[in-house]
Amino acid sequence: MDIDDLAKRVMAGERRAMSRAITLVESGRADHRAQAVELIEALKTSGNTALRIGLSGTPGVGKSTFIEAFGMFLLDRGLKVAVLAVDPSSTRSGGSILGDKTRMEQLSRQKDAFIRPSPSQSHMGGVARRTREAIAICEAAGFDVVLVETVGVGQSETMVAEMTDLFLLLLAPAGGDELQGVKRGIMEIADIILVNKADGELKSTATRTCADYAGALKLLRKRPQDPEGFPKAMTVSAYTQDGLPAAWEAMETLSDWRKEAGHFDARRAEQARHWFLEDLRAGLLAQLDRDPEVKAMVQRLGQDVAEGAISATAAADEVLAAMRG
Ligand code: GDP
Repeated sequence: MDIDDLAKRVMAGERRAMSRAITLVESGRADHRAQAVELIEALKTSGNTALRIGLSGTPGVGKSTFIEAFGMFLLDRGLKVAVLAVDPSSTRSGGSILGDKTRMEQLSRQKDAFIRPSPSQSHMGGVARRTREAIAICEAAGFDVVLVETVGVGQSETMVAEMTDLFLLLLAPAGGDELQGVKRGIMEIADIILVNKADGELKSTATRTCADYAGALKLLRKRPQDPEGFPKAMTVSAYTQDGLPAAWEAMETLSDWRKEAGHFDARRAEQARHWFLEDLRAGLLAQLDRDPEVKAMVQRLGQDVAEGAISATAAADEVLAAMRG
């Protein structure tokens, strides 16, 4: 495969080249991996930056309906929109997000939109690298907004927040006044909470739910990288499109503010450093696994540690010493 040519075609915004490039970064084959690394390096010359937006929400909250409506809204403003999905649970039968072709039907037909479903892969480390590289591909291809959708499973939200500039949490209107069991950690990474389905009979419930979350957000410590009023909770309706302009305005306000204050670039730099260390860690673990002698040693020492014959620390030291040769 001619990687230089592929990179050029991705940077020219060719859809087929983007799809091929993403397939390449998704591959687990060692020769493909080397080509993927070369490709991602080559794409750095594009100089394009997209606004990377993470979006999370439990199944049924309206993620795909929202992305369809929001995506069309952005296209109307002349922006090019890419949608990627992270689904660590997609190995479960038939339930993978974006796997269903009927989702985002209208958006997927638009020439300035690119939608890539999540492949089935369960290993979180692999998911992270693949998603980051897919983001880089969309960015190099000149997309203005890259939406990364995830379901609230395991570590996927934290992972997506670590590779995006803004993080949105989509919630449904909830009866009663209890918060919907949203974990504190998720509240802390959300920049904007969107209470969807604020239409028809659900509208007043959505407004109440939104006020509850606004109150809960106020209790969190204000982040130095945020302007006044953030993080915030807002209502939207993916059906009627009510609230979409205000939500987009809030996203722009936040990202413009962070850009001016230097937080935007600082965050990306910090994210790059984080993923470098993560990749290094994953690489070292893979190396442990590849060397049959070390692998056997790890297995044997694991048993010894379990039996109390050696301490965990001493066993780890022994393996590290053996790896250093
Ligand atoms: P996802 O699983 O999070 O992707 O959710 P879907 O987009 O598939 O939507 C789940 C259900 O909620 C579907 O029946 C949608 O029609 C419905 N839904 C999505 N957005 C809205 C909305 O803005 N208002 C109302 N009333 N229903 C919505």
